[in-house]
Amino acid sequence: MIEFNNVSKSFAGQPAVSHLDLHIATGAFTVLIGTSGSGKSTTLKMINRLVEHDEGTITFAGEEIRSLPVLELRRRMGYAIQSIGLFPHWTVAQNIATVLQLQKWSRARIDARVDELMALLGLDPSLRARYPHQLSGGQQQRVGVARALAADPEVLLMDEPFGALDPVTRGALQQEMVRIHRLLGRTIVLVTHDIDEALQLADHLVLMDGGKVVQQGTPLSMLTSPENDFVREFFGRSELGVRLLSLRQVSAYLRSEPVYTGEALRADMSLREALSAFVAQQCEVLPVHNADGQPCGSLHFRDLLCVEASCEDPA
Ligand code: ADP
Ligand code: MG
Repeated sequence: MIEFNNVSKSFAGQPAVSHLDLHIATGAFTVLIGTSGSGKSTTLKMINRLVEHDEGTITFAGEEIRSLPVLELRRRMGYAIQSIGLFPHWTVAQNIATVLQLQKWSRARIDARVDELMALLGLDPSLRARYPHQLSGGQQQRVGVARALAADPEVLLMDEPFGALDPVTRGALQQEMVRIHRLLGRTIVLVTHDIDEALQLADHLVLMDGGKVVQQGTPLSMLTSPENDFVREFFGRSELGVRLLSLRQVSAYLRSEPVYTGEALRADMSLREALSAFVAQQCEVLPVHNADGQPCGSLHFRDLLCVEASCEDPA
């Protein structure tokens, strides 16, 4: 969907991004991660030409981005950022409809689309006529994402979209993004400096440092086969175990014999969540239910100890 070929960008002679090669696959959830100043935002903004690259080529759906009118390019890409940028004197509905107004959609179509997006983002219809200052931070961020999705863009670009939120709200919105990505199958490129967020969301993870890509691959491959010490340190040796648990699901460690005591785990929970449940319930084995709430087996605490740093999925 998006290809960077030997792309560089400097600001006042200082390189921000150097010789970048990136392949962003259609429908993938790509996450750019790195420390502050590593060139993540610059990379993202070059995609919709908020920043123009100096060297190399960037193609979008096979076309060099400079050959497309910039407005067309931006229409095909939603953009959501941390500071949200909602218009303070516009209602929630008006904010969500920004791009649709520009595209001269009819009143009725806009109303229907706003309803649909609010439902998708879990925003209560009663919030329609509110102004941004009358919303919580999490609700504002949901409106920002709804607005970015309004015209059904081919690509959704997100720059630290949950950075300003408290951990609980942030977790909820991360879950929403995973659900929305599965549902809509859109190509998403998200920038973050939060490792756990990156591991949770990414199909394809790109670790940047000093304007360069240090390593890219699946979250699991980054944790289990770091190419150098920088990568190893970045993902944290001490937390490797819990991070691996967070990438694997209960379903992969299920034993078939049923268990009837204890509060059930869900098969699609991460092993990290399961670990918390074992600690909270002070037990060695717990029942597991499938998505329909039907018992489907059990999980043993000691099986969590065998989660190895291997790239193979146990299932
Ligand atoms: P990140 O998003 O990873 O924190 P950025 O892409 O924002 O990093 O910045 C990369 C480098 O480019 C930094 O050194 C930053 O100071 C510099 N930079 C970014 N934008 C500008 C700009 N508009 N003008 C000058 N320097 C910039
Ligand atoms: Mg940034």
